[in-house]
Amino acid sequence: MTEHTKTDGLPAIEPGTVPQVLERSRPRNERMSTDKIECNACPVLCQISAGKSGACDRYANADGRLVRVDPVVLLARSPAAAGDLVAFLPREPGAAPAAGGDEDAYFVTGVGSSTTYPDYKPAPFIVSSTAAGVDLVTVVTEGIFSYCSFRVKIDTDRFLGPEQANIRYKGEVVGHVTTAEYGSQMLSLGGVHHLTGGSKKEGRVTCEMMAALGNKEAVELAIDGGSQVVVQSGRPPVVNGVPEARMRVGCGSATVGIFAKQFYGLADEVVVVDDHITGVLTQHQAGRCLDMRLSGVKIKGRRSTPGRYFQVANPGTGWGGTDIADPLSIVEGWDPGTAWPGLRLLMVSTTGEHAEWFVLDEALEPQRAPLPEPVARIVARIGENCEPSLCTVLFVGGAGGSLRAGVTENPVLLTRSIKDALVNVTCGGAPAYVWPGGGITVMVDVARMPDRSFGTVPTPAIVAPIEFSMRADDYRALGGHLDNVRPIADVIAHGALHDDGAPTGRRIVAPAPANPWPLGRAPLLG
Ligand code: SF4
Repeated sequence: MTEHTKTDGLPAIEPGTVPQVLERSRPRNERMSTDKIECNACPVLCQISAGKSGACDRYANADGRLVRVDPVVLLARSPAAAGDLVAFLPREPGAAPAAGGDEDAYFVTGVGSSTTYPDYKPAPFIVSSTAAGVDLVTVVTEGIFSYCSFRVKIDTDRFLGPEQANIRYKGEVVGHVTTAEYGSQMLSLGGVHHLTGGSKKEGRVTCEMMAALGNKEAVELAIDGGSQVVVQSGRPPVVNGVPEARMRVGCGSATVGIFAKQFYGLADEVVVVDDHITGVLTQHQAGRCLDMRLSGVKIKGRRSTPGRYFQVANPGTGWGGTDIADPLSIVEGWDPGTAWPGLRLLMVSTTGEHAEWFVLDEALEPQRAPLPEPVARIVARIGENCEPSLCTVLFVGGAGGSLRAGVTENPVLLTRSIKDALVNVTCGGAPAYVWPGGGITVMVDVARMPDRSFGTVPTPAIVAPIEFSMRADDYRALGGHLDNVRPIADVIAHGALHDDGAPTGRRIVAPAPANPWPLGRAPLLG
């Protein structure tokens, strides 16, 4: 009957058997063919022929009924309860909503829950449950986010590109390199300006890239004046075709500080090569505290404080995130009044991936020599102290706009309740950090969200799940849509209250292991 196999075999919800059907808007185009229905889940307002889906592939015309083709995702507190797709049961005419059971065992997420548009309609699922004797309400929706972006943390020293450089996907600018953090390069991707402020193609490509990133897929990016990098949540980055393995133990100065005592007596000088801060042991405070004799080595670059040098080379993919392949290229020379023949020099990178051992000859020229075993062990320990290099993908979305009307008729009360810590905000059941200040700007690690949490609409914008959980009394106080609150047992059995693009089935999954149970946290249960 339909091109959407996802809906095949699911029981139809009998017309008239739902207790409350929201009014569907009249088609704007009166000439619309009678076998078409209008999807009113977003401003695009697709007219969908029988058996076809709309432009976003999220909604379809199933025998004249608008359906959300993906199931809504529920989290099960017990992993054993997780299972495959289950169709919702049709409602019996006049039947009271199902209630009871182990109400705290499941959590309805926004994934696949569907969207309501225009915004004044109540959210698709407003679910009541009881946990530890406390009556709770969770408002669940798939938000359509025009204001949203991704912050990507890439654990590598390697040079990805200059700060503020444009980042391209399929040739279009989709973001920029932003401030580096400790051991990591940071990217800012997507955002309203790329979605809406450029060409149509830029918006479309940005949207595609963002959905792929959010859905934990690999995305290949090209950074102007820098590298090609493949980014995927929870996976090592691939820089210019080479998978990254280690996140540095620290900057060069920190590495000197950590391992100074272990090198004492085994090396006369240790230089830890780092694009940001190269450390020189005997000049560094760590060496001075150990009463180490100055070696007289002169390092290129700009001296910051004793034993700490900036800009010893250009950034790159060589030693310690510099562009050097020969460590001696950063050595300017030796003070003949201080250095001595036979001086033992270790040069090592911040990950321990590169290390070379030198001994000064009579002319104070460093000569390469095999790395002594005790020194090699410390170099290995530097490597051991590196963490695996990963990409972390955080979704940032602005939920402080019209989406709030699906929760309450007085949206500012939701904003205030969140600020007052009365509301727990989750995205797909994953804990969301709410930025201080105005609005409701949430940030969430996509690795902690269910698979395939993100979608798109061609406005263009990103579709992402969001849930607001609070005590029932607080929901009443903020002017919530009380008539639309339904017991969780009823939601599990029958799905959405109305057939206005409702999901036709549910999928029960286990939450990510690191996630707290969404209804088990303060402030909900005190
Ligand atoms: S793009 Fe999707 S949500 Fe928007 S109207 Fe078309 S089918 Fe509905």
